[in-house]
Amino acid sequence: MFMGDFKEATEDLATFPEDSPTLFEVLIEWVYTGKLRELKTHPVTKTINYSPELMYQLADKFCMEHLMDTIISAYILHYKQQNIIPNVEEMKLGYKIPGKPFRDLTVRFLHYLLTEFRQNTGTTLWSTKDIQEMLITNGDMFTDYLELVRSHPSSTTVNDPRQLPLCTFHLHGKNEECEHKSTWQ
Ligand SMILES: [Zn+2]
Repeated sequence: MFMGDFKEATEDLATFPEDSPTLFEVLIEWVYTGKLRELKTHPVTKTINYSPELMYQLADKFCMEHLMDTIISAYILHYKQQNIIPNVEEMKLGYKIPGKPFRDLTVRFLHYLLTEFRQNTGTTLWSTKDIQEMLITNGDMFTDYLELVRSHPSSTTVNDPRQLPLCTFHLHGKNEECEHKSTWQ
């Protein structure tokens, strides 16, 4: 069914998210223009115009690492611009995305939430019960979180993941130039 190096070529199987028409539009736009469609939150419904998590998953299926780096940058900048961090449902979705970057970012958001961010907000969006349920039903996430906490240097504040260099969550090598910057700035 598929040829080439991408994953479906070896698995001979393609599964795509339910909202694939929009995601494919965004993918085609990227291919033709080299620009990622801007993430926008509807002012009334607060829904986002497309899911960056599922877009990342789709780009991963085609091994489009450059696009993946651009999407995770857009995702982080979106939260920065909105001055919010992911809620529990968004964290659950973020951790489900295959590969290290989204999982790393999600666990860092959780660490930041439970140490620094909680000082500035109510707990409605991140109730202890919801967080407990998330960690109990996501054992790997619980393990990654515990390891992050235990590796954190004592007497230092936890960094806001939105303030870290975006390359922290990119797939390109540490010493490689970040090629995609101009496409999201
Ligand atoms: Zn980079």
